[in-house]
Amino acid sequence: ARGIRIEGLSKRYGSGDTAVDALRKVDMTVAPGEVVGLIGPSGSGKSTLLKCLGAVIDPSAGRMTLGGERIYDDGWHIPDLRALRRDKIGFVFQAPYLIPFLDVTDNVALPRMLAGHGNTQARQQAVELLTALDVAHRAGAMPSQLSGGEQQRVAIARGLVNRPPVILADEPTAPLDSVRAMAVIRILNDMARQFQTAVIVVTHDEKIIPTFKRIYHIRDGVTYEEAGEGRSFG
Ligand code: ADP
Ligand code: ADP
Repeated sequence: ARGIRIEGLSKRYGSGDTAVDALRKVDMTVAPGEVVGLIGPSGSGKSTLLKCLGAVIDPSAGRMTLGGERIYDDGWHIPDLRALRRDKIGFVFQAPYLIPFLDVTDNVALPRMLAGHGNTQARQQAVELLTALDVAHRAGAMPSQLSGGEQQRVAIARGLVNRPPVILADEPTAPLDSVRAMAVIRILNDMARQFQTAVIVVTHDEKIIPTFKRIYHIRDGVTYEEAGEGRSFG
């Protein structure tokens, strides 16, 4: 069983008088093939949740299961967090951290190459994703030559290229116009269905919120589930 299960997840920053409880016993599940929205005001705990799931920071307590594997149970249950991040999780960040000295194709192909695939095949898969994201015409450009929207789409392609079982996307459509935002959502939904990927999209982009079948709201570190409007590209 792939997918994501989070139970009783808590995160406290600091201690004593200055402690901040950023997550308070959060429960959340994302089925294989499902794309859920995570919505909440600034400071509500969205980034903290993604960072815990992505093994970028240590939770304080709770349980997390990822792709059928219990990765955290009041402590990490896997020896190699780097391998977890590399092999299981596709990150799509708000600020697209593209590598400035690699062209667009190699930026996207790099995670594929690092996963042990041949350069030619990796580049071919990179160009396929760039095509789907309508940015293949920039395949040979350097990141500094791209617009913000183009950089974002390249970063999305890079997050998807290894077809990870889990994708964590932080405001992936923020700088995009509605046609391109919808293209991104369509690709995430297609990916999810085709590869049984579990996808969490942090967003407050009104253009895409109606596309989620399920939405979690988060406020002061507590999540609430809300059924979406039932519309989707599924
Ligand atoms: P969001 O992503 O929804 O804006 P965050 O997860 O960044 O929220 O923050 C949740 C809470 O945790 C906020 O009160 C924030 O100030 C606090 N916080 C986030 N990161 C840290 C940190 N490294 N140290 C202390 N407090 C933090
Ligand atoms: P998008 O809608 O994809 O963000 P824009 O309309 O912003 O695209 O940009 C159109 C073209 O202008 C792009 O092909 C891009 O290469 C170029 N461009 C835009 N902004 C910059 C920039 N800051 N530096 C270099 N080229 C840019």
